[in-house]
Amino acid sequence: MAHCGTLFIISSPSGAGKSSLIQALLARPSADGQLQVSVSHTTRGVRPGEENGIHYHFVSQNEFKVLIERGAFYEWAQVFDNYYGTSREWIDEQLAKGIDILLDIDWQGARQIREQSPSAKSIFILPPSREELERRLNARQQDSADVIRCRMDKAVSEMSHYNEYDYLLVNDNFDQALNRLSAIIEAERANTGKQAIRYQNLLSGLLAE
Ligand code: 5GP
Repeated sequence: MAHCGTLFIISSPSGAGKSSLIQALLARPSADGQLQVSVSHTTRGVRPGEENGIHYHFVSQNEFKVLIERGAFYEWAQVFDNYYGTSREWIDEQLAKGIDILLDIDWQGARQIREQSPSAKSIFILPPSREELERRLNARQQDSADVIRCRMDKAVSEMSHYNEYDYLLVNDNFDQALNRLSAIIEAERANTGKQAIRYQNLLSGLLAE
């Protein structure tokens, strides 16, 4: 079957609410198995509440290197002091089934995906203000003050890449941001080229002489 799923890249600085938006998006009835999130591999430690295979595939640096050598990743990057990568095989299988995939990855990964899949759509999510971003990073209480300061610096550097993305959303009002994110995905699903693949039987029936 020809590929008709779409790759959606979603990036944001840590603390902009990207994970909550993605979870809410997947819970919408319209997602209905037609939208899935890719589970990345990472070398970072497991945070409280995270599960291997659900939030990430947690691997050692050596295991990660072996996967790079095998060409298992669509993209990989060093983010903060750890490695993160998107595995190729699972994504290709889902796209071939017509399932849309969300990639929660940073700007470095987004660049690599765009080079290989120019039809991928990318969305950048901004926090409503610098103060709110700082408040959200503090509210997590999972990281030390040093880590939070470092994340604030990295957030500014991540946000400086906003203009490489197709869409820009501000997560001020959660429901509004969620509706806009959903609208972008729905609009892309209605793309004529993709619908023609999805509805080839319908079209040949409708257009029969
Ligand atoms: P965290 O450690 O807070 O879960 O993620 C840190 C950053 O790494 C986030 O910006 C997230 O989007 C990014 N990230 C997660 N998985 C991947 C991946 O597979 N590839 C790339 N390039 N970035 C990723």
